[in-house]
Amino acid sequence: MTSAPKAGIVVVGSLNADLTIYCDRLPQPGETVHGNGFAVNPGGKSANQAVAASKLGGQVSLIGAVGEDPNGTMLLDSTASAGVDVSRVRRSDVATGVAVISVDAGGENSIIISAGANGTLRPSDVTSDAFQDAAVVCLCLEVGIDTVTAAAQAGHDAGATVLLNLSPYAEVPEVLAGLSDVLLVNAHEASLFLGAEADIPDAQAGVEAWEPVRSQFADRGLQRVLVTLGAHGSVVLDSLARGTEDQITRIAPTRVSAIDTTGAGDAFTGAVAARLAAGESLADAASFASVAAALAATKKGTQAAYPGVADVEQLRG
Ligand code: ADP
Repeated sequence: MTSAPKAGIVVVGSLNADLTIYCDRLPQPGETVHGNGFAVNPGGKSANQAVAASKLGGQVSLIGAVGEDPNGTMLLDSTASAGVDVSRVRRSDVATGVAVISVDAGGENSIIISAGANGTLRPSDVTSDAFQDAAVVCLCLEVGIDTVTAAAQAGHDAGATVLLNLSPYAEVPEVLAGLSDVLLVNAHEASLFLGAEADIPDAQAGVEAWEPVRSQFADRGLQRVLVTLGAHGSVVLDSLARGTEDQITRIAPTRVSAIDTTGAGDAFTGAVAARLAAGESLADAASFASVAAALAATKKGTQAAYPGVADVEQLRG
């Protein structure tokens, strides 16, 4: 008797309270500008990714840590009410992590993070029983690299696809890179990862311009990479695809009127996780995620702005 394929998604990482000020333009160093609105919202890359995946139909479990404070309660409530299993989110005596975010009139943002309780997440929080049903393990770099590496190892051992969002950028130990089946980076993170010799093509560049980038990632052991390009869409670099024409897929942007792009990358990552867990190909998952992330950019905030499958299908037509 064959058992049903695993379909679970385990997200390991951060939960933050997002303290957001909206303003006409972001301040320069040393400058003070007036804001025109303030909000406290649930956030943190991993919580966002978990909520995005869950709203898109994924069976999601989150491993993380929050403080014994109202922000921690807000985060547990928001993730749980989106359908995420939060039984492995530990409460810590360190305050919940916060992100201080500024968003300008064009939807551009700048962010400072204070890790708080996220910094208490340890490899010992990552136990193999949490990965039994995992088809996809979704990771980012807002918690310690040892913990991320332990989660990647646990996911790998369970036969799951390990999806690493290299954000916020940090040097990745070789062992973690080697355990990552799919790397997800924005253009900035891609150029930091590849180093000085990398020439990330501009937004209008065609598939040929991405060939050297694909080959540089492959040389570094990263066979499958998604590069997000903000309003310019995304690119799938899949060195494991058979024909050369399938190794690079340019995904056109979904045209929307963006209000707040905070967390668009997380919506993209969560959507990719949901579609990979449902058995979709990497290129198809990225194409779906592109629409989901564009929709997320049309509303203020992050988790509350994330779409469901019906919203994405409607926009795709
Ligand atoms: P990050 O937020 O991690 O820097 P990006 O800015 O590259 O990531 O955005 C991630 C994805 O979100 C993009 O690949 C795209 O699909 C979508 N996106 C972001 N901004 C916009 C926008 N203004 N219009 C349409 N889609 C967008």
